[in-house]
Amino acid sequence: MPELPEVETVLRGLKPHLEGVRLAGAVVRDHRLRWPVPSGLDARLRGQRVHALGRRGKYLLLELDEGQLILHLGMSGSLRILTQPDPPGPHDHVDLLLEGGVRLRLRDPRRFGAVLLTDTPGRHPLLLHLGVEPLGEDFDGNRLHALTRGRRTAIKQLLMDARLIVGIGNIYANESLFHAGIDPRLPAGRLSRARCMRLVAAIRATLEQAIAAGGSTLRDFVDSAGRPGYFQQDYAVYGRAGEPCRRCGHAIATFRQGGRSSFACPACQRR
Ligand code: ZN
Repeated sequence: MPELPEVETVLRGLKPHLEGVRLAGAVVRDHRLRWPVPSGLDARLRGQRVHALGRRGKYLLLELDEGQLILHLGMSGSLRILTQPDPPGPHDHVDLLLEGGVRLRLRDPRRFGAVLLTDTPGRHPLLLHLGVEPLGEDFDGNRLHALTRGRRTAIKQLLMDARLIVGIGNIYANESLFHAGIDPRLPAGRLSRARCMRLVAAIRATLEQAIAAGGSTLRDFVDSAGRPGYFQQDYAVYGRAGEPCRRCGHAIATFRQGGRSSFACPACQRR
């Protein structure tokens, strides 16, 4: 599943192709995505200009003359820009038609992605209850400290709760907690302000590093597979159960939390 850094990379890759561009319509080959693609999408998009391309969590947001188009990649979706005719494959469910014969094509084999229109930008039910953006300006140690007060939930599960903080998936929660020296099982309410500061810095650094790793795939958005997938990265703990900690040599431990795999160094990460 694309995580926040992948979606941010898609956003940065698509911006120059979409912002300021007028839409000529849409071709919908299959309406059955996670939610049905709105009928009449072609007519509703035709002639509308894309004023800005933004992101909220893992939703890509196209600000139009009237309303907002919401795109989500689901489990297996990818977007690419086509500058020349390219026959659609079986999973190429939606094309947005841009001016000049260019297309933005959504491929989504598992159809958990979404293409939605709303007349009230930012007020779509899917967006209403999303938490703070981990790369945004209002996320800092004090904010995390406030969010964690009185909560007995393990810190890792709190980090992954999109109603509080949006877009930190399993990989980046594990990695950030390692870099901050915090045991993933620590009850969130017991984090000191100083450790919250350290954790926020680790989250930002981990996400930014992943985005930087994705930067080299940006050219792939045009006339190619267009799928950055998981960036090739050397994780510190994620997926490294039993292997030596890169900092101290101790074997990395793994355990389940909330149905997800956690990875941690028993020596470097403290409660
Ligand atoms: Zn260690």
